[in-house]
Amino acid sequence: VAQALSPSDAPRYIALMDLDKFNPVNSLHGHEIGDATLQEVAERLKLEAQASGTVARLGGDEFAVLLDETANAVQAERAAQRLVHEIAQPFFFGEKAVFIGASVGLVALRYGDDITEVMRRADKAMGVAKAEGRGRFSWYDADQDRQAMDRETIAADLRDAIAHDQVAPWFQPIVEIDANHVSGVEILARWFHPERGSIPPGVFIEIAEDSGQIGTLGLSVLRQACVQAKDWARPLTLSFNVSGVQFKDPNLVPSIRMVLEGTGFPPERLIVEVTESSVIDDFGEARAKLEELKALGVAIALDDFGTGYSSLTALQNLPFDRLKIDRSFVTNIAKRAECQKIVSGIVSLAQGLHLEVTAEGIETVEDLAYVSYLQCQRGQGFLFEKAVPGDQVGELLDGAWQDLPTVPVSLAKVVGT
Ligand code: C2E
Ligand code: MG
Ligand code: MG
Repeated sequence: VAQALSPSDAPRYIALMDLDKFNPVNSLHGHEIGDATLQEVAERLKLEAQASGTVARLGGDEFAVLLDETANAVQAERAAQRLVHEIAQPFFFGEKAVFIGASVGLVALRYGDDITEVMRRADKAMGVAKAEGRGRFSWYDADQDRQAMDRETIAADLRDAIAHDQVAPWFQPIVEIDANHVSGVEILARWFHPERGSIPPGVFIEIAEDSGQIGTLGLSVLRQACVQAKDWARPLTLSFNVSGVQFKDPNLVPSIRMVLEGTGFPPERLIVEVTESSVIDDFGEARAKLEELKALGVAIALDDFGTGYSSLTALQNLPFDRLKIDRSFVTNIAKRAECQKIVSGIVSLAQGLHLEVTAEGIETVEDLAYVSYLQCQRGQGFLFEKAVPGDQVGELLDGAWQDLPTVPVSLAKVVGT
């Protein structure tokens, strides 16, 4: 197409589309439904393309639409939005409804452009759409390449920081709501970069994953945490986050075992937190890995529940001990009827499956009162404490944590009965 353009022609636009949440469709519903979904996606795209351009399947779950020569940038955006919208609608197969979504990268194609470079840019833009939360489109712009360079420098700095134990464990208390005491802490990694200041885990965890450092990072943080926890006055549990990429690493279980043996930290006080997205695309493999972890003596928690697939199949088939309700449902729950229903539903589900429930993101006494009313056993959140460095854990255990915020006697006020 680039060759067919002449210097005076207006640019053409390409929308590159990748399906979100498509992989789990096969494992949850079977390959037949997976294939049928892809066909239906193609049908919807063809319909859309009749109005706006030419569609091509690039393989797997990737499609490209070359928009008509009449399309300007604004129309290209509208077309991208329509694509995203179309794919977000459920796909029905008999009794089954399949929900997927799409992320779209938009690029301009000008006279003389190298098509490989243009597709690379489209891919970059699509990556940005995914990183911004999926189910949306993003334009390519040169800043995205600059940011990528920035990420490379951060990745290099991170390597150095991990080697020098500068990525450190901080600890956020997990509270037994009824007994009103701290029974454990969650390890949250913190990185203070000498020039850039503190870099949030939301940023560096992903960089660590992309640059193959998440395994080393996790172990360094876990080892430091186990060493520090041995000095604490009470035998608190340690909750350790394992990200998706980390979970798939064949070295995960052996290296956790090594840390436990090396530091002498009792396995029964370790809880490994995994997210649903790590286990959803292959239950068989996930179960084997979780069983191996349990054989070490550690417990397993399903983190951020409610934000992902919220799959009943996953809950029933995998050996979880605990379930953590994502904070987006908990913070301000007393005023949010939808969240009340969701949390109450999750709790009864968990009770049926003998899972213990932790509510994340408790920020106010009202939040605490409400989740207590809904029978969540444990809570975590800024109301109790943010993450603190290890040397403050002992202090807090002696002092402030003795006077934890308690559920107000008059629950009725909060619950509104
Ligand atoms: P997460 O495992 O769900 O951890 C809880 C996050 O919620 C933490 O954010 C915590 O500071 C925040 N939080 C706790 N209570 C409240 C509250 O009341 N209100 C609000 N608004 N936020 C609250 P943080 O430390 O920024 O960590 C973000 C995520 O990064 C974690 O989510 C976890 O998935 C990941 N992460 C952190 N440390 C590690 C690590 O060592 N390894 C791995 N793989 N992931 C980590
Ligand atoms: Mg967690
Ligand atoms: Mg969480």
